[in-house]
Amino acid sequence: MSGLGKKTVEDIEVKGKRCIVRCDFNVPVKDGVITDDKRIREALKTVKYLKENGAKIILCSHMGRPKGEFNMKYSLAPVAERISELMGCEVVMAKDVIGEDAKAKAAALKDGDILLLENLRFHKEEEKNAPEFAKELASFADIYVNDAFGTAHRAHASTAGIADYLPAVCGYLIQKEIDIMGKALNDPARPFVAILGGAKVSDKIGVIENLIDKVDSLVIGGGMAYTFLKAKGYNIGTSLLEEDKIELAKSLMEKAATKNVNLLLPIDTAINDKFENTDNFSVVDADKMPDGFMGLDIGPKSVELFSETIKNAETVVWNGPMGVFEFEAFAAGTKAIAKAVAESGAISIIGGGDSAAAVEQLGYADKMTHISTGGGASLEFLEGLELPGIAALNDK
Ligand code: AMP
Repeated sequence: MSGLGKKTVEDIEVKGKRCIVRCDFNVPVKDGVITDDKRIREALKTVKYLKENGAKIILCSHMGRPKGEFNMKYSLAPVAERISELMGCEVVMAKDVIGEDAKAKAAALKDGDILLLENLRFHKEEEKNAPEFAKELASFADIYVNDAFGTAHRAHASTAGIADYLPAVCGYLIQKEIDIMGKALNDPARPFVAILGGAKVSDKIGVIENLIDKVDSLVIGGGMAYTFLKAKGYNIGTSLLEEDKIELAKSLMEKAATKNVNLLLPIDTAINDKFENTDNFSVVDADKMPDGFMGLDIGPKSVELFSETIKNAETVVWNGPMGVFEFEAFAAGTKAIAKAVAESGAISIIGGGDSAAAVEQLGYADKMTHISTGGGASLEFLEGLELPGIAALNDK
């Protein structure tokens, strides 16, 4: 395992050591009941490794936005219960984060025991990355483990500051993220195809600029494609347009041409006169969009064009849906591209957030090599930015 050269839990002696593990337990809770425990299940590989290897385990996470105050609506108690059920062992819940109860319970841990601290964001110092709070957290442990990729792009006390005081390693989740995405960026199997979609060009500029130097093909769909089509001089009706990004779109297309990157835009589009679902929509060529209509999905000719390139790919990175997949009528493009990626046999990496939701909702999740657990974090990673939660970890 390479882990971008970062130490992992396997690179450090954990037996008998107190390990404070930053997890992402930011799960949806309704009336005290967890409605989706995926993030908890995903975190268990690291927790199990630590337990089997005799560590004293102190788990911590944020949940929701309690805004720096104790608010039991955002208590992690249901998470402790769920970990306990899934692991088949006791998980002790602390009543506070760095208070007397947490301290006493941490001190009483035996090898293999598990303690969960209360919601880190009950203290405003967490998001401020206050050194005294980070130091208090660090005082609970001998080793810091970060396994919360979803918050790795934030410099908070529990994701970055704490690493100033303890040996810092990553857990399996972060390791997998940086291994797979790091390899795609630094040494991809080729052809390397990036598929970008979603609502806005402005959200993806950094990613396009970083990937355009690395990919063989760049496929652009979704709402952001219409700014590119406009830049080509097409009428785009009432489709999503970022007027102030037209020049940028032009220069990106020129850059792709000079770098011999095969940049693909939709050649046809499914349209409607309103931003809503309908049984009655038309498909037109991308250069023949009528006034008063908006493009809400790529059309079948675009699917064919894009799929041809995807079929030959050895690495695919995909971020952002091809259309408004939340509407049944306009999910076809995203679904067909998900199918093409799944069937390509390529190493397939799906960015978190909406792309992950689309792939899951459309039933292709288990066909992908890797679905990132962090939306914002995976975007920043693909932009080539240094994530504070990863930079803080010890090098091998
Ligand atoms: P993002 O979070 O930037 O990946 O954007 C995802 C959102 O883009 C989804 O909610 C889609 O509904 C939306 N989207 C995709 N295609 C279009 C389109 N053609 N027009 C408007 N919104 C779109």
